[in-house]
Parts: sequence; structure tokens; C-alpha cells
Amino acid sequence: MRISELLDGKGHRVATVDPADRVSDAIALLAEWGIGALVASADGKTIAGIISERDIVRSLAEEQEWTLRLRVDDLMTKSVVTCAATDTVDSLMSLMTANRIRHVPVVEDDELIGIVSIGDVVNIRLQELEAEASAVHDYITLGR
Ligand code: AMP
Repeated sequence: MRISELLDGKGHRVATVDPADRVSDAIALLAEWGIGALVASADGKTIAGIISERDIVRSLAEEQEWTLRLRVDDLMTKSVVTCAATDTVDSLMSLMTANRIRHVPVVEDDELIGIVSIGDVVNIRLQELEAEASAVHDYITLGR
């Protein structure tokens, strides 16, 4: 399956945060959306970085009060690993494993067009496995 098909199913909405915003704003957004990472972008299209709950937790473990007053830009990862809508879900799984990341923004013509989380990938794989199991079951029991 291609990433484009996955996005057709789950939608193209991406939660973004301005890199100039405070980390406390990013925390509020993560809680509001019930997600684990935000793409840092000033215009919602151009990717400046990505900030995940891990970045925030790591910083909180070092300095609590200070972390909340930092800007997103201070904690985000700036070299973002992205994928294209034409990539396959299998290649994305390898990308996530190799880079030890759980979120990959989807980019087309240098613009953000979606995001895939490890949860989305697991969901799709489960659906595929269920469909395969059902086909094998039908083949064995019904001979079709
Ligand atoms: P995650 O596993 O996605 O919560 O993120 C773990 C670490 O990788 C954090 O430091 C993130 O900022 C960073 N990270 C997450 N997604 C990406 C990505 N697509 N490209 C680069 N770094 C990322």
C-alpha cells in the first residue's frame, strides 16, 4: 500500500506549532489533539522541525520550570525525516525503525501534505493481516 492511500483513509490534517511559540503552548496542543508530536511550521506548509513528547519529557527531566518557558525552536529536531505520498507503507516502517522515530511528515513539492504515525502504520498492517487471514479462511472452508 502507498502512503497516498493511507492518507486518503485517515485524512491530510497535520497539527502544527509555530517554532516561535512556547513549549507550554506545544504541550497544550499535544493534549488538545491527543497526539505525540507536532510539526513545527510558521505557515503550516513549510517544515522547520518536529517536536515530540520525548523532546519535552527529556528537557523536563533536566529542568522543569525552564522547559515550559523555552521556545519550540529550542527543543525541536531540525533535520526532519520525511516521506513522499508515493512511498510504500512498508518502506515507511523501515524508515521509522532505522531512525527510531514514530512520526513522519509527508511532503509534496516541499510542502507538508500529511503525517503518518507508527499507530497509523500498525492499524494498516492489522487490517491487511485480517483481510489475508479471512481470505485464507474462506479458501480452506468454502473452497473459494
Ligand atoms: P518520536 O519517536 O516520533 O516521538 O520522536 C523521537 C525523537 O525523534 C524526538 O527527538 C523527535 O524530535 C525526533 N523525531 C520524531 N519524528 C522525527 C522525524 N520525522 N524526523 C526527525 N526527527 C524526528
